[in-house]
Amino acid sequence: MTDTPLDFGDPADLDRLRRDFRAWLAEHPLPERRLDEPLPVFLHRWHRQLHSGGWVGLDVPERYGGRGLSALHQVAISDELGACHAPGIPRIGYLAHALLEFADEDQRRRWLPRMLAGDDVWCQGFSEPGAGSDLAGMSTLATRHDGHYSVRGQKLWTSYAQYSGLCLLLARTDRGAPAHRSITAFALPLDRPGVTVRPLRAMNGDDEFCELFLDDVRIEESERIGAEGDGWPLAMTTVSYERNALDTGHISKYGLLVERLRRVARDRRGELPDGLLCEIGRCFVDYEVLVAHARRRTAERLGGQAAGPESSIDKLLMTRTEQRLYETALKVFPEELHEEGGELFGDYLYSRAASVYGGTSQIQRNIIAKRVLHLPSLSKPPNPGAT
Ligand SMILES: Cc1cc2nc3c(=O)[nH]c(=O)nc-3n(C[C@H](O)[C@H](O)[C@H](O)COP(=O)(O)OP(=O)(O)OC[C@H]3O[C@@H](n4cnc5c(N)ncnc54)[C@H](O)[C@@H]3O)c2cc1C
Repeated sequence: MTDTPLDFGDPADLDRLRRDFRAWLAEHPLPERRLDEPLPVFLHRWHRQLHSGGWVGLDVPERYGGRGLSALHQVAISDELGACHAPGIPRIGYLAHALLEFADEDQRRRWLPRMLAGDDVWCQGFSEPGAGSDLAGMSTLATRHDGHYSVRGQKLWTSYAQYSGLCLLLARTDRGAPAHRSITAFALPLDRPGVTVRPLRAMNGDDEFCELFLDDVRIEESERIGAEGDGWPLAMTTVSYERNALDTGHISKYGLLVERLRRVARDRRGELPDGLLCEIGRCFVDYEVLVAHARRRTAERLGGQAAGPESSIDKLLMTRTEQRLYETALKVFPEELHEEGGELFGDYLYSRAASVYGGTSQIQRNIIAKRVLHLPSLSKPPNPGAT
């Protein structure tokens, strides 16, 4: 019944879910964004609307406010949203996975239902001025006292911290231990004394990024997620879900643009330079590879496999597809380059960040080399005893 890219020849219940969602969407269309409304505020209203219909956290267990369905059900809803040009499901899946895996039962019950409902908005406090790619080099320090911690340091590039109530914060708890065993994760309420959030304006005019200054901020032991030293595996779990093609729901949106380009290539064949036709062809190939890969990854997730380091492949394919696609689209539709506030131009600008956020493309290649392919490190001299 559907021609969206991640249609798996759906089993009956999934087909029903897609139908139910379309019917709900027809009755609860995307709200209008008010002229002066910041994007995150608008997206938050959309989040709440989706949640009120039961369309957020489909793969989260019911006892934590989800619907206890499979990853495939969540993929199907993302797919439907992209295909009708609506903003995707709220980007909280990767944070929810981190809590599901590392938080204790009390914390999951306390935080997850509110996160899914949009009652608490979370941000991600990982990067620092001196620690982005080299996250293990972070210097924010949490010093333990009797029953609480005192945190000092600075975070950077924290998306939408000014609209958030809680921050998934990483800090070092043991200066002596090796980097990967000395980082601890916390849920920091951003209204705590000692927290300063300062927004930074990006080149596209958005105030997405923030600096976060932490000046002897008190964090309770009950706000620590996992044990001391669990911060590194928690961070790796978080980013592997963040990089996962399935949690973003962008693929159907790319599909609409690929289709638009394909139509133009057909209808204006004699007019467009050969080079541009070739680029459209490449967009199509990138997109097809991404879809095939996303289908395989969905099947793996359904088989119980965690997102893992293979998500770096998802991230690279998404980045390549997205950047080439918007670059080509602006050459084919140059008039939209000058359209103030135009969606295509906005998407083009944001696509430039795809090779940086969630870990840069160079870092994804390093991860694939080391953790997926297990290639030997170039920096080590060859073992003379090896044959
Ligand atoms: C839109 C956007 C949203 C973001 N949101 C958040 C957020 O909410 N929370 C958060 O914590 N962070 C966030 N970030 C930060 C992001 O995670 C970092 O920018 C990213 O990890 C890179 O770190 P950096 O900027 O410090 O660059 P650096 O690490 O300084 O890298 C600079 C350059 O050196 C290259 N490089 C570095 N090390 C290596 C290496 N070992 N091998 C090869 N090349 C290398 C990099 O690829 C890059 O090209 C966001 C970034 C963007 C663009």
